[in-house]
Amino acid sequence: MDAQREWFEKDYYQLLGVNADATPKEITKAYRKLARQYHPDQNPGDAASEERFKEISSAYDVLGDEAKRKEYDEVRRLGPMAGGIGGGGPGGFSFNVGDAQGGDIGDLLGQMFRGQRNRGGRAGSGVGPQRGGDVTAQLNLEFEDAATGLTTTLYLTSDAQCSTCSGSGAKPGTHPTVCAVCGGRGVVDDNQGLFSFSSPCRNCQGRGSTIKDPCTTCRGSGVERRPREVKARIPAGVSDGQTIRLAGRGAPGRNGGPAGDLLVEIKVAPHARFGRSGRNLTLTMPVTFAEAALGSDIDVPTLDGATVKLRVKPGTPSGSRHRVKGKGITTVSKREGTKSGDLIVTVEVDVPTTLTDAQRSAIEQLAAATTVDPRNPS
Ligand SMILES: [Zn+2]
Ligand SMILES: [Zn+2]
Repeated sequence: MDAQREWFEKDYYQLLGVNADATPKEITKAYRKLARQYHPDQNPGDAASEERFKEISSAYDVLGDEAKRKEYDEVRRLGPMAGGIGGGGPGGFSFNVGDAQGGDIGDLLGQMFRGQRNRGGRAGSGVGPQRGGDVTAQLNLEFEDAATGLTTTLYLTSDAQCSTCSGSGAKPGTHPTVCAVCGGRGVVDDNQGLFSFSSPCRNCQGRGSTIKDPCTTCRGSGVERRPREVKARIPAGVSDGQTIRLAGRGAPGRNGGPAGDLLVEIKVAPHARFGRSGRNLTLTMPVTFAEAALGSDIDVPTLDGATVKLRVKPGTPSGSRHRVKGKGITTVSKREGTKSGDLIVTVEVDVPTTLTDAQRSAIEQLAAATTVDPRNPS
């Protein structure tokens, strides 16, 4: 039977026992209940139950799919389109109940739901649900914020669901109508001998529906470019140049497809004193020759503002590196759990550029007492 005629003649809402304004949840619930009741496994050899089961499945195949339900409502309201050349009914209307028989009910339902989702697979040909595009944004962070993480608001101008028509593309108060050429399938069949080719419908650009009165804001695309705010939680330890993916926060999908992702490129400003190497922080601390030679406990700053004592042993060479455990960046991830880096302090002997008389004479005494030539140590 021609799918549109079938749609027009069958009250799927009544079949599922729900109101015409039922929510998707209510529809799924009603369907599951009836599907269990009339499942062939529950009623072996009962042809009436089997017939009922098929009807329920057909009804849910349409009402359980947001886009299809819209089209169905349209057909019920306006009548079937004249001249529709739909071959196998609207796209994806071919779920074969017989295939699933013999499996248990859980399996069967699972297959139905998978079947529904698979309709998204046609996105590549520009037909059916299409995933929205990814949107990129840049976020500039202070060094400290990158280390500790923060929740911030991104202000960006990008494709977003049209606020005038809520993404339908139709002028408020009107609705898209089922495409008269493809009958809502979005594709047309071209029979060439033994083979049948499908190509996207030109009349509706593969959407399956056409818009008589386009929304003036988005000119019927359902998408408008506008400024928007996105709250983003930036995890601790992000590094300069890293990209963070916020799933589903990109451009809206078309024909009921999922939204794309928001890709946030992180720029981290350098710090006046600290550097970074992964989770480790780096810091260069000047010490005097006397401190390096005689040994000393020196105060070392940490990123959170507190200071820690670093023990410089007698005879510490300039340029040597010292580890302060746990004073780096702490990251928390599902994969690795909580991990803390270290603070790596490079000790650098400071050589004075001006000397007082007392300093000069002290260093001259040191020179006179020096017996080892560092360039010829033997
Ligand atoms: Zn619009
Ligand atoms: Zn079409």
